[in-house]
Amino acid sequence: MCKIRVTFDRFAIVGATMFLVQAAVAAPQVSDVRVGVYASKTRVVMEVSRALDFRTFTLPRPYRVVVDMPEVTWSPKLRAPPSGGLITGMRFGLFKPGLSRVVLDSKGPVRITKAFMIPPNAAGRPHRIVLDIKRVTENAFMAAYSRIGKRSKPGPDATPRLRPPVLKPKSKSGEKIVIMIDPGHGGVDPGAISRSGVWEKHIVLSFSKELRRQLRATGKFEVRLTRGRDVFIRLRERIARARAAGADLFLSIHADSIRNPRVRGMSVYTLSERASDKEAAALARKENKSDMIAGLDLNEQSNEVVNILIDLAQRETMNESTVFARQLVTELSKVRKMLRNTHRFAGFAVLKAPDIPSVLVELGYLSNRSDERLLRDPGQRRRMATAMTRAIRRYFDRQEALNQP
Ligand code: ZN
Repeated sequence: MCKIRVTFDRFAIVGATMFLVQAAVAAPQVSDVRVGVYASKTRVVMEVSRALDFRTFTLPRPYRVVVDMPEVTWSPKLRAPPSGGLITGMRFGLFKPGLSRVVLDSKGPVRITKAFMIPPNAAGRPHRIVLDIKRVTENAFMAAYSRIGKRSKPGPDATPRLRPPVLKPKSKSGEKIVIMIDPGHGGVDPGAISRSGVWEKHIVLSFSKELRRQLRATGKFEVRLTRGRDVFIRLRERIARARAAGADLFLSIHADSIRNPRVRGMSVYTLSERASDKEAAALARKENKSDMIAGLDLNEQSNEVVNILIDLAQRETMNESTVFARQLVTELSKVRKMLRNTHRFAGFAVLKAPDIPSVLVELGYLSNRSDERLLRDPGQRRRMATAMTRAIRRYFDRQEALNQP
């Protein structure tokens, strides 16, 4: 067995044991992260409420330092990420159940020269994880990176394969229509963050749960969420979950943020190789970055997520997506301000299920005060969900009518 796998397995076993031992105790908390800049290195110090096992690794293009640890909680103080020296940004959150992750963006290629844990001191500092990071040349980085790459084929955790499609015969009488709602981002990928500190990952989850409630109440739909809590899910896993559930419709829910604070309104997107406009292309590029943001090695992934090529089998599905998107725009524009040319298209990786009509909805702009206020308001979210539920009902009513003998 290769070295990396052994390390990871040991980590997993330690994690599982810790879970059993600490089941009755609260999860450890990360209370502070500091970055110290020295002439020869950048030092990152994370304060944790008790000793824990962790592992670190680096990733190229973009260059990142990743710290994995058993599931922890995060102090609210961590909301403003520190940066300095070789560190330009930081994200943190649940990577998957039982595993929390910190992703540090680095200024170019770096090496972790030291990574250790120190116990509490007399000055009242708690346990600390310490990482020393040094700049290296790109060649040195890639040499070390490919050495590791040769020793270790990525484990099943690193690159889950897309399962073959589970196609179920549609519209059998009595069988419920399956809707997969996909709250964007989550865990270590926060999505957009408003100036007042509202996180896209939280807003879209609240909205998705409200939409699920209303769709279920119709009695016509079986409704699933790709994530029901604040956890990261990679893009193709979202598609895989929809296919495994035999979904008839896939709805990815987001809320955007852009530099111009005056821009506001909802918008609806479908998949296309060629984008309808510059803004849609830029939005797709941003949303497709989720895996990178969460500290995944894009160099190990196939081009499936990064590169959007559409095969023939997908065309029919894309037509259906467009039909639904129009229906959605009609209903949403009755209750909310819509962006100009509101149905747009671009290469969104998460909409790439070849056999499920898929639409991505941007609920509004967290960078706009009025939109942000509406998105925070549960009553307004209810109204938007009601309009969406109506559009979904109309879409399937029309399908049923078309399928009548
Ligand atoms: Zn988003």
